[in-house]
Amino acid sequence: MTAERMNGKELAATKHAEMKVRVSELAKSGIVPGLAVILVGDDQASQTYVRSKQKMCEKVGIHSILKHLPADTTEEVLLSHIDELNNDPEIDGILVQLPLPKQISEQAVIEAISPEKDVDGFHPINIGKMMTGEKTFLPCTPHGIIELLKASEVQIAGSHAVVVGRSNIVGKPVGQLLLNEHATVTYCHSRTVDLRAITTQADILVVAVGIAKLIKKEDIKPGAVIIDVGMNRDENGKLCGDVDFDDVEDIASHITPVPGGVGPMTITMLLENTIESALNRS
Ligand code: NDP
Repeated sequence: MTAERMNGKELAATKHAEMKVRVSELAKSGIVPGLAVILVGDDQASQTYVRSKQKMCEKVGIHSILKHLPADTTEEVLLSHIDELNNDPEIDGILVQLPLPKQISEQAVIEAISPEKDVDGFHPINIGKMMTGEKTFLPCTPHGIIELLKASEVQIAGSHAVVVGRSNIVGKPVGQLLLNEHATVTYCHSRTVDLRAITTQADILVVAVGIAKLIKKEDIKPGAVIIDVGMNRDENGKLCGDVDFDDVEDIASHITPVPGGVGPMTITMLLENTIESALNRS
């Protein structure tokens, strides 16, 4: 058996085409969705992420602006920029690229963004709504994973989903969304004793750790659905996930490739949240 590849790039392209139509419909009522991205400092990876977010916005017709602030920006100055954007009627979504320099509290910044413009879905109010199952902006990577599973017609309800990793941006929320979809969810992390004993029970295994090729074929149940969130470089500098793709490909039923799996879905869900937010303009 060779696992079916869950093609995030293809699903993202389909969604981009749908979004283009929605954006042109909105334009008829004089609304152009607006996304503001704030980047503090000169981190190379962050600059790359921000560029691809802006490029995607342009593709679907979302107006995006970038505020690039110096690395020594104070928390007070950053908060004043957020305040300004919170009050800008042409801006529907605000995204502050993480990580931030040490002098700035990430939590203070996340909480300063108006929940109505929190298209990353990180504000405690939106996280609370996600937990209670209310409609809200969902965090982009976890939401993209659910969309990929649904597009591949994977049965989530009743399955045992194991999530390896418990970060606030990926691990914890993806477990919650799987629970909302009626999976039985187990979380694993760096203190988990005997990881393999748990991962081999998973019908759906989500791995968001950040260690190249951590998960091998001995770690999975035959026929499992594997979602690989990791973005790492292997010994040859090639982009790879947290799962050893070549090793598990023959025993998994479905698997997300890296690149081209979860990654393209993350930006796609950000764009969807921005369009949703524009629809809420009154
Ligand atoms: P974090 O570093 O914030 O979290 C890593 C998690 O992995 C922690 O919960 C940690 O446990 C756990 N962990 C570390 N070592 C082990 C181990 N040996 N066994 C089991 N668990 C372990 O990472 P992120 O969640 O932010 O990102 C994870 C990966 O996903 C990274 O490669 C990142 O680049 C990628 N990523 C990809 C995205 C995409 O769009 N494709 C989006 C976001 C991230 P503990 O809590 O105990 O420390």
